[in-house]
Amino acid sequence: MRYTYNFNAGPAALPLEVIRQVQNDLIDINGIGLSILEISHRSEEYELIHYETQQLIRDLLDIPSDYEVLFFQGGASTQFAMVPMNFLTREYMASYVYSGTWSGKAIKEAEKIGEVAIVASSENEQFKRLPDLDEMNIHPGSAYVHVTSNETAAGVQYQNLPNTGNIPLICDMSSDILSRPFDVSKFGLIYAGAQKNLGPAGVTVVIVHRVLLDRIQGNIPDMMNYRIHAKSNSLYNTPPVFSVYVVNLVLKWIANNGGTRGMAERNRLKADLVYETIDRSGGFYKGLAHRDSRSIMNVTFSLLNEELERCLLHELRLNGFIGLEGHRDVGHLRASIYNSVTYNQCKVLTDFLTEFQRRYG
Ligand code: PMP
Repeated sequence: MRYTYNFNAGPAALPLEVIRQVQNDLIDINGIGLSILEISHRSEEYELIHYETQQLIRDLLDIPSDYEVLFFQGGASTQFAMVPMNFLTREYMASYVYSGTWSGKAIKEAEKIGEVAIVASSENEQFKRLPDLDEMNIHPGSAYVHVTSNETAAGVQYQNLPNTGNIPLICDMSSDILSRPFDVSKFGLIYAGAQKNLGPAGVTVVIVHRVLLDRIQGNIPDMMNYRIHAKSNSLYNTPPVFSVYVVNLVLKWIANNGGTRGMAERNRLKADLVYETIDRSGGFYKGLAHRDSRSIMNVTFSLLNEELERCLLHELRLNGFIGLEGHRDVGHLRASIYNSVTYNQCKVLTDFLTEFQRRYG
C-alpha cells in the first residue's frame, strides 16, 4: 500500500522539507565528511546541534532563563515515573487531573511511588469532556499538580490551564507542545515526547524550573534524576543524537513558518475545517468530544455503526490515507492533525468524508 495522506497519531507526519534535509545530510552533515549517525556526542559538531536545539526551544517558547531545557530517552512514559520519583517524597502527596488514557497512565506510575490524590476527573463522562479545573480541590500538602494538556486518545484539549500558585504545575504536553503559544512561567515542569509535533521518536523534551531541581531528594538512580541531567546539560550519557538533530530541523521549520503563533493559526484553520465537516453532516459523523473540550490536534469522531466505520477506514486506506483508526482504548476514528499536517491535506480528507457521506448517507 502506498500512502499519501498521513494522519498518524505518533510517530506522525514530519514536514517533507525536513525529511529531504535529513536525506541530504545523512551521509555528510555540515560538510564534515561523516554522518550524524557515526560521530561522538562529545564532538564539537554534535554539541553545536545539541545546544542550538535547546536554544531554539527556548526562543520558540520564550522560556525564562531560570528554566532548564533537557533531553531524555524512554518516551513520555518514562516521565510518568520520573516525575514522582523526583518530587513525590514521603511527606507530600501528588495531585493529578484524570482526563483520559494518558493521565491515567501517569497516575498509575505515581501510585507506585507515593500518595496520589485525583483532584479532578472526567472518568464518569468517558473522558469526552475535560474535568473543570476551577473546581479542583488541591491539597495544600501537594508536591505538585499534574495535568495533561491534550489527551491524544479522547481528543480533548485544555485551552487554558490554571495558576496553581505555590504548588508547581507539571504538564504532559506530548501531543500539543509548539502547536500554540503558552506561558512557560506558569509551569514547574513540562514534558513532551517528540514524535508528534517535535520530530521523530527517541527523544523527550523536559522544561523544568531550577527551583524544582533543588527539591529533588533521595537516592534516585542517576539516569532518572533531573538534577544530574541538568548539571551536564543533557550530556550526562549518550543522548539520542539522531532524534535531537531531526528535532533541530523541525524547530527551524516551525520558526520559518511563523513560530508558535503561525502554528496556532494554521492549526485552528485545519481543526475548524475538520470539525465543520463533522458538524454539518447532519449526524452522519459525530464528534466524540464535547464541543467545549475539543482538541485541535486529535479530532475523534464516530459513524452510525461499526460496519460503516470499518467500511470508511477500508476506503480511506485504499485511497492513500493512513492513521485514521481511533486509539485502541476509544475505537471509532481519529484524525491527528499536528503541526506538519497541511491545510490542503485536511481538505482532501474532508472532501473524502463528504463524498463518502454522499454515497452511504
Ligand atoms: N502522553 C501523551 C499525551 C501521549 O499522547 C503519549 C503517546 N501517544 C504518551 C504520553 C506516551 O508517550 P511515549 O510512547 O513516548 O512513552
